[in-house]
Amino acid sequence: MTCPFPNGVYLDNNATTQLSEQAHADMEIFLERKYGNPNSLHKFGTETHTALSKALDEIYVALNASDKDDVIITSCATESNNWVLKGVYFDLLRHGQKNHIITTQVEHPAIRSTCEFLEELGVQVTYLAPNKNGIINVEQVREAMTEQTGLVSIMWANNETGLIHPIEQIGALCRSHGILFHTDAVQAIGKIPVDVQKAQVDFLSFSAHKFHGPKGIGGLYIREGIPLTPLLHGGEHMHGRRSGTLNVPYIVAMGTAIREAVEALEFENTEVRRLRDKLEDALLQIKDILVVGERSLRVPNTILCSIRGIEGESMLWDLNKAGIAASTGSACASETLEANPVMVAIGADKELAHTAVRFSLSRYNTEEEIDYTIDVIRRSIERLRKISSTYTYVA
Ligand SMILES: *Cc1c(COP(=O)(O)O)cnc(C)c1O
Repeated sequence: MTCPFPNGVYLDNNATTQLSEQAHADMEIFLERKYGNPNSLHKFGTETHTALSKALDEIYVALNASDKDDVIITSCATESNNWVLKGVYFDLLRHGQKNHIITTQVEHPAIRSTCEFLEELGVQVTYLAPNKNGIINVEQVREAMTEQTGLVSIMWANNETGLIHPIEQIGALCRSHGILFHTDAVQAIGKIPVDVQKAQVDFLSFSAHKFHGPKGIGGLYIREGIPLTPLLHGGEHMHGRRSGTLNVPYIVAMGTAIREAVEALEFENTEVRRLRDKLEDALLQIKDILVVGERSLRVPNTILCSIRGIEGESMLWDLNKAGIAASTGSACASETLEANPVMVAIGADKELAHTAVRFSLSRYNTEEEIDYTIDVIRRSIERLRKISSTYTYVA
């Protein structure tokens, strides 16, 4: 089937997103004429410094940070996540008084691999398993806490399933025990309200390209007065907390993108949700399909599903030929042979837990695109099941 949309249908927004037009327009002048280093005292520096301050203000407002808190620009959420874990290790854990981190089995590799690295250095790490709803609840965190616990790191929303963890409850619990709390909010921003004060987080990671900003720019929110040894030592950029000359064009674009993402929250939770639900309802009409996680527990844009008898990769191949971009998520067994822990937790059998297709929408998707996608998926499943060696096809 030839795709009627010249640019294809992009349903892989949890991997990265299209740059917003306004963000692009706002940064252009800083790539061209306004190239000063914002730390310089001449006119070239002051004009970029003004733009930088404005962009930072937009980020503070979007996260509801207080002006005494720090929002430090980083190269991406991978850096922010590494920084929190390694910084807390340097500040607290390596001395041995506190020697324990609580995290989950479903974190992004930027958390998981860093935790594994810290284990090699002698840190104890508890990886909480999701419950039968696919999420971590506050009681599990409470039970895992010991005298030794120095940090809890739990993602706000999961990139594969879209499932949302109860961050506000976990934040309150950590605060009441005096334990530092970090959340990877990459998949939450622009999808659900994110308020650092309400959630009582000490650290929060974000990445611009997941909310229609540019790639290679992100940040770490650090609550007022919380020390964190820098990952990058050097000059006095960002109050000495993160060195490296600032990428003003991208920061300006990130400011615009986060403002727009917050402004579009209402749209995300009505229109994007409606299109996601339409696609999901169509999938559920097909026999032997599992959609992971209750809708009400998920961000509005994500569907992770397992289609019995069909390898995720074969499905993606069909979709790609029809101009539709989706993903297997790292849910799939392509890298490790482990089943997706969320699928195991919600009781999916082995076959289903090993194969998955993820559709993730954005505010740029249209109804026509979703209708076309539904049509392509139906045909593809029928075709693939007819030739499947593990599935008995009944028309
Ligand atoms: C994409 C993603 C990251 C990493 O973001 P980068 O920009 O690649 O560093 C971290 N956590 C989650 C949940 C993500 O989805």
